[in-house]
Amino acid sequence: MGKPARRRWDCKRFLKNNWLLLSTVLAVVLGIIVGVLVREYGNLSNLDKFYFAFPGEILMRMLKLIILPLITSSMITGVAALDSNVSGKIGLRAVVYYFCTTAIAVVLGIVLVVSIKPGMSQKTDEFDRTGSTPEVSTVDAMLDLIRNMFPENLIQACFQQYKTQREEVKSSSESETNTTGESVTAVMNKTKEYKVVGTYSDGINILGLIVFCLVFGIIIGKMGEKGQVLLDFFNALNDATMQIVQIIMWYMPLGILFMIAGKIIEVEDWEIFRKLGLYMATVLSGLAIHSIVILPLIYLLVVRKNPFRFAMGMAQAMLTALMISSSSATLPITFRCAEEKNHVDKRITRFVLPVGATINMDGTALYEAVAAVFIAQLNDLDLDIGKIITISVTATAASIGAAGVPQAGLVTMVIVLSAVGLPAEDVTLILAVDWLLDRFRTMVNVLGDAYGTGIVEKLSKKELEQMDVTSEVNIVNPFALESTILDNEDAETKKSYVNGGFAIDKSDTISFTQTSQF
Ligand code: ASP
Repeated sequence: MGKPARRRWDCKRFLKNNWLLLSTVLAVVLGIIVGVLVREYGNLSNLDKFYFAFPGEILMRMLKLIILPLITSSMITGVAALDSNVSGKIGLRAVVYYFCTTAIAVVLGIVLVVSIKPGMSQKTDEFDRTGSTPEVSTVDAMLDLIRNMFPENLIQACFQQYKTQREEVKSSSESETNTTGESVTAVMNKTKEYKVVGTYSDGINILGLIVFCLVFGIIIGKMGEKGQVLLDFFNALNDATMQIVQIIMWYMPLGILFMIAGKIIEVEDWEIFRKLGLYMATVLSGLAIHSIVILPLIYLLVVRKNPFRFAMGMAQAMLTALMISSSSATLPITFRCAEEKNHVDKRITRFVLPVGATINMDGTALYEAVAAVFIAQLNDLDLDIGKIITISVTATAASIGAAGVPQAGLVTMVIVLSAVGLPAEDVTLILAVDWLLDRFRTMVNVLGDAYGTGIVEKLSKKELEQMDVTSEVNIVNPFALESTILDNEDAETKKSYVNGGFAIDKSDTISFTQTSQF
């Protein structure tokens, strides 16, 4: 083939492989242009703005729709495919990775915010306080996290989460003193008593579903032939779900165009970005260092492959995260990129990605640490080492507790603030720019999960290869296995095994190798 012809062919192949990514990028650019033009010349009423963003709203609904079948089928099949020993090891590696990268992100955030000092030159009264403060207490939030791991009703977990709320109990002495003036206030504060009220709030309880699917997957994996029908069902469900994801991805450029244009039209106060510029710069530079230097370095050290090529493979997922600010809703795209572009083993992605999207949020952790120190600086609060450590620990916990939905980090921020005695209502100071920072931190959250799959895959290579060898032996020569495992069994049992009527673990591994090819 001549050089020009070859170049043309390469170009064609590039376009064919990346058409979706390219059209999404194009949609973002067009969305920005359309948004700016309509904002300038469109003169849209509030109602018009709402209708304008409709195609974007549909994209969000589609992505949310697919989360439930995707998470359940991928977790169950992913765990059932591994034997419990291997899944335990992989799980442990994933958790160590999540924990280390989150801790690094927090430390990085603190180092940056303490050195840049974005809140030193400003005072809290320079900002408008718009919006209401979410009511969250540290202990309750942590307990809710554990409660949500064990949903009391599986169907309810598909659309609601448990949420503790505190209600003030009016004691009789209080109501008496209430009317008698100022001195009573102190007594009131001292005797303020709360009762805890359990409520449910809307939103899928992903953590609860993950825990259930994890146990369910292990059990059906161990049940052998009896569990095979369930395993086949969930494998088929996973297959079908991924095909639906493909359809959603075709619609994605159009949805994204209107989503971004709608957001540009909707934002009222661009002036606030100037006021909070240094704070935003601190968060964004932290996110950039974490995603361009630290995560790739960890990947390079462990996997010894080009981390930027891996990140390019995840570009579609990162762009989606940037546009929709939700790691859970990006999950379908993250799966496709990790499995199809980066060719990460499905036994790893099915396990590491759903859990990562729920608890591993490096971007959120970094942001929580920066925002808490920023608010402390605005309030002229001296941060000693004890307080810095408290911020680091609570920011890590708050990022684990944050759901993978837009601006969840802002809600759990209150935990960090109250832990160091800062006024919880000060989250409203950073509210105006949160929608923008949310997009970038979500992108880093998704990238962190993705690198996690590559790293855990590399660390688990030995176990995965062992499983492959076992299943190959099973497929290529079932008699070999038969003779090693069933040596002491009687001829009758042997016959039924060979006919596929008996073997438990063996048919299991065979079916995995088959399904892992799709
Ligand atoms: N939007 C983020 C996510 O979905 C969570 C947050 O930081 O608010 O990952």
